[in-house]
Amino acid sequence: MKRRLFFIAAFCVALASCSGGKSEMDKFIDDLMGKMTVEEKIGQLNLPVAGDIVTGQAKSSNVSERIRKGEVGGLFNLKGAEKIRDVQRIAVEESRLGIPILFGMDVIHGYETIFPIPLGLSCSWDMEAVELSARVAAEEASADGICWTFSPMVDVSRDARWGRASEGSGEDTYLGCRIAEAMVRGYQGPDKETQLTEDDQIMACVKHFALYGAPEAGRDYNTVDMSHIRMYNEYFPPYKAAVDAGAGSVMASFNEVDGVPATGNKWLMTEVLRNQWGFDGFVVTDYTGIWEMIDHGVGDFETVSVKALKAGIDMDMVSEGFVGHVKNALDKGLVSMKDIDEACRRILEAKYRLGLFEDPYKFCRAEEAAKEVYCQEHRDIARKIASESFVLLKNEGVLPLKKKGTIGLIGPLADTKSNMPGTWSVAARFDVPKTIREGLTDAVAGKADVLYAKGSNLVSDYDLEMRSTMFGRELGRDNRTDAQLLNEALAVARRSDVIVAALGEASEMSGESSCRTDIGIPDVQQKLLKALVATGKPVVLVLFNGRPLTLNWEAENVPAILDVWFGGSETADAVADVLFGDVNPSGKLTMTFPKNVGQIPLYYAAKNTGRPLHEGRWFEKFRSNYLDVDNAPLYPFGYGLSYTTFEYSPISISATEVAQGASLTAEVTVTNTGKVAGKEVVQMYLQDVVGSTTRPLRELKGFEKIALEPGESKTVTFEITPELMSHYNSDLEFVAEPGEFRVSIGADSRTKNTASFILK
Ligand code: BGC
Repeated sequence: MKRRLFFIAAFCVALASCSGGKSEMDKFIDDLMGKMTVEEKIGQLNLPVAGDIVTGQAKSSNVSERIRKGEVGGLFNLKGAEKIRDVQRIAVEESRLGIPILFGMDVIHGYETIFPIPLGLSCSWDMEAVELSARVAAEEASADGICWTFSPMVDVSRDARWGRASEGSGEDTYLGCRIAEAMVRGYQGPDKETQLTEDDQIMACVKHFALYGAPEAGRDYNTVDMSHIRMYNEYFPPYKAAVDAGAGSVMASFNEVDGVPATGNKWLMTEVLRNQWGFDGFVVTDYTGIWEMIDHGVGDFETVSVKALKAGIDMDMVSEGFVGHVKNALDKGLVSMKDIDEACRRILEAKYRLGLFEDPYKFCRAEEAAKEVYCQEHRDIARKIASESFVLLKNEGVLPLKKKGTIGLIGPLADTKSNMPGTWSVAARFDVPKTIREGLTDAVAGKADVLYAKGSNLVSDYDLEMRSTMFGRELGRDNRTDAQLLNEALAVARRSDVIVAALGEASEMSGESSCRTDIGIPDVQQKLLKALVATGKPVVLVLFNGRPLTLNWEAENVPAILDVWFGGSETADAVADVLFGDVNPSGKLTMTFPKNVGQIPLYYAAKNTGRPLHEGRWFEKFRSNYLDVDNAPLYPFGYGLSYTTFEYSPISISATEVAQGASLTAEVTVTNTGKVAGKEVVQMYLQDVVGSTTRPLRELKGFEKIALEPGESKTVTFEITPELMSHYNSDLEFVAEPGEFRVSIGADSRTKNTASFILK
């Protein structure tokens, strides 16, 4: 009996090793690839633009012929379950092998229910909210045909000139990692083992790999040049965190890394991403990334297409370099069949994991979409999250406002719908969001009056306004003179008890290809604001922005400033919630606000240098400083006010010495010392005082958002693990070096609540 069992077991092992111990997926894909021609395999690597496919017209569209020929692996930014079903039907029923195609979209901060722009969302410091926003986006998008989103964007950025700072989570590495993980969980599912098994889970695409947030001079697509030690310690971790959380795909960045465009960079795409991090999904280029390598100056179209495939790129978005050149390159021996097979397999694996072979129409659930997309439940969630993303920058007793008397609502952003959602809301409907004017009027109905005046155009320069309000975000430029607009506003101001000024950037003043060298509130709006403040009436600045702005005059002279970023489709109600105190603001900045552009890049996790300025000094000759501005930011990372106040106890630390490999804890007690309930983001920073390489002055290593009733106290405990004490040294080894560490816990990155311990 025993012998027989042994025989059966041995037979099974032999069988498994014959088939390579293959999974069902491997066997399925082997079988499918066995039937594919080289051209069909290369076709899987192609992600062309969808073109303008009208529902019911898919058959006659220009891409349909290519789908029939097996030249298309996926399409993107096509909206609507019926339309997508039509196109999928062509792939499944009319192409030779019936391979379904992937439908991707930039679902960045929501689908039709739009959440705050990612920079705003990050200011909530609420990882459940972040995950929930991605979950809602996935529920809506997945019902409406989409199985793949080009999100999360996890590029660390310390340059407010860069327009795409709006699309990321700010300047911090640690916070960026936590947000990257939360987004992946939201899209793909909370549990790594079962991700992408449900029909409302969509594949994430981490972007833009790598270092896209560090272009020289804050100019989009510009050169990036960075040391490896900085890449590993500060810029790589959020991409890796997303990969570790299970992200199914990665998007290459447009920029160069170490002198080689990321799209053709084998070290980055194969050595770092696959060998060091163990990524097993697929890599897609960003838009015309392959084609752009010609302009980068690294070869002709064939050369750069080969470079990309050889580097480890699996899918070519838009360039048509793979379909155009890889077959020829194979014939010439420039690429191998193995290169093509590997990339093709990864695309097919993604389709398999998404369940498209089982049911190619899994994501086309029009009836469900009709019920779920932009439903009240989702909108309520978005409203709440928006209100948590706002940051109260200043408040001299003006806020919250009372719902009585006359409120003068003034500004070019007060009465626009299309500017509310914010940049990168491809699926958004611009006709549905309430304007701020509608939001405030609804909130005070029957109790107070809201008067309105535009006050000024967005900017004085017509051409700049046109460039800043593209893609359907027009503000309806007013042809009256600046003086006429201002006079009308002042008349409204005189009749009001309080002025709410809705000013700042239009939504297309940040985002892709929207960089600025002057990041103040634009000229005519500033003039308007100064005139409003000069009336002596209390003024609340409701600030719209997709990046940190320089606000020196405003910080000095305007009694209250609420930064609302671009809060998404429910912005208007959320703004009313916070202005009238129904929600107590709890957002904290995730990017430093500089005093002027010349200070950029300005970030809290800076190095000390060999000639630091002495504490409390502005200028000292031969120290690291400027003649004309001090080194301090206007508002530091982690900063944000509340309608209540919080007090922190000194830190209590579990040990003053700790052995290698051991952890310790640091805790504080936080008390709500004000009169209303509120939420506080308790932040923990570490400084590795002495190292083999220079280390930042402090780095965020933990945070917790807590809710406190008036008078209530809570103790918050942080575990400081060996991992948190570690960094990459100059040999790029991840080490915790012995010596002194300082731990600081407080309300923002400037906290002086500090304790020390020694790592033995
Ligand atoms: C952007 C990406 C985006 C892609 C597809 C590119 O221009 O850089 O972030 O996902 O377009 O729309």
